[in-house]
Amino acid sequence: GKATLLLPFDNTYAHDLEGFYAPWRPATVPAPRLLLFNQALAEELGLDSAALDTDLGARIFSGNQIPEEAHPLAQVYAGHQFGQFSPQLGDGRALLLGEMIDRHGRRRDMQLKGSGRTPFSRGGDGKAALGPVLREYVIGEAMHALGIPTTRALAAVATGEIIHRETPLPGAILTRIAASHIRIGTFQYFAARNENAKIKQLADYTIARHYPALENTGNPYLDLFAAVSAAQAALIARWMLVGFIHGVMNTDNMSIAGETIDYGPCAFMDAYDPDTVFSSIDVQGRYAYARQPQIAQWNLTRFAETLIGLVSPDPEEAVRLLTEQVNAFPKLYAHHWLKGMRAKIGLSTVEEDDLALVQTLLSAMEDQRADYTLVFRHLSAALRGDAAQVRAHFADPTRFDLWLPQWKARLARESITAELCAEAMDRVNPIYIPRNHKVEEALTAATNAQDFAPFKTLLDVLAQPFEERPEWADHAQPAPESFGPFKTFC
Ligand code: AMP
Ligand code: MG
Ligand code: MG
Repeated sequence: GKATLLLPFDNTYAHDLEGFYAPWRPATVPAPRLLLFNQALAEELGLDSAALDTDLGARIFSGNQIPEEAHPLAQVYAGHQFGQFSPQLGDGRALLLGEMIDRHGRRRDMQLKGSGRTPFSRGGDGKAALGPVLREYVIGEAMHALGIPTTRALAAVATGEIIHRETPLPGAILTRIAASHIRIGTFQYFAARNENAKIKQLADYTIARHYPALENTGNPYLDLFAAVSAAQAALIARWMLVGFIHGVMNTDNMSIAGETIDYGPCAFMDAYDPDTVFSSIDVQGRYAYARQPQIAQWNLTRFAETLIGLVSPDPEEAVRLLTEQVNAFPKLYAHHWLKGMRAKIGLSTVEEDDLALVQTLLSAMEDQRADYTLVFRHLSAALRGDAAQVRAHFADPTRFDLWLPQWKARLARESITAELCAEAMDRVNPIYIPRNHKVEEALTAATNAQDFAPFKTLLDVLAQPFEERPEWADHAQPAPESFGPFKTFC
């Protein structure tokens, strides 16, 4: 029975959505070695860590051994990549092993990423290099610790294979856990083929799995759109509040469940600059930091288009209703963002001028290229009587010095003590984010010297991003000048 299974799969995607995937087997790899196993996540999933953090785990998480009851499959999807529609994408280097119900009763996907070619691989080799696997592992775990909805990493396995990018690199496989892997692009695939019954089937499946409260509303498909839009508005606001740049917000990389998914060229901003782009392939800056909310809305519009036939038998009526929802996105997003910004500067009440107060600070930060994370973090010290720390982030503090008394005057109308306010700020403003130079240093040590110590330290630091520790002081610093302008190549 299920209770005795090492991985208690309960697969609905495979059983309910035939025609939405290709059943497939992972490639066999020569020398699987378990590099990382996420005990805390295993616990949350109700898994037996003692049995899985082993050679058996290495075989399972490399795809060399298919666990009992797994139903490995490659999901099909389409997507707009940098604005261009690709009608045929899909899991080109990933396989869904199956789903399981976690300790909180939530259904979670278990996916292998880097497990070999599939029918959707096009020209790709189906593989993943160690560096990008570790990058996805650590950034996802950092996002989770920041309280941001995200897919997570259960394991990383070295395959013993050399894979070929610009240079030969060690191969690896990531085991990814997600609320699901249904993407806007999944809907687009069937919409592009006018497979209306399939869109309905997928929408019904999605509602049952992610938004069950909508099953009996007056217009569940319109409400599905509104729910996904609301989830994305909240998610993107959380990204913006921590300075996260996804880097490749294609519609196939946007989850219907509202999790951050597909960490590739993503990175956190150091100096505050709304135009920040890290991805080497994003030459137009389409996915720049400040454009993320607009891009989310653009992607949601593509999602809305797939639902027209479901929302009303009258297409004009459907378009009108969906457009109303699409147009509501900026306000929804702005609400979450301002709420988060208020918390970052210690405000728990609402005043009309709060937005202007926040914008004045941000504009002073942009002007001086002040460190985004540290300015907010060190504001609490100013409340405790030491403004020198935060001031030091501004080469020319003139504008910050004008802002500070305005902020303090606003705080005087809050009814909590400065110390309680400072503590509340320290719970929402991280001291540690994945600093690009620290991530690179850890990935380089792992890739070039099989030295995982820096990577494991980085995981430890980022697991508690709000707890300042003297021994981790170097993790709180922006990259030194010598690191140069940062680019990601994923
Ligand atoms: P991404 O840019 O990582 O979101 O991937 C876009 C598409 O390319 C997806 O369909 C992936 O499955 C596919 N893909 C990415 N890398 C590879 C690879 N090495 N081999 C095969 N397919 C890949
Ligand atoms: Mg992707
Ligand atoms: Mg600029």
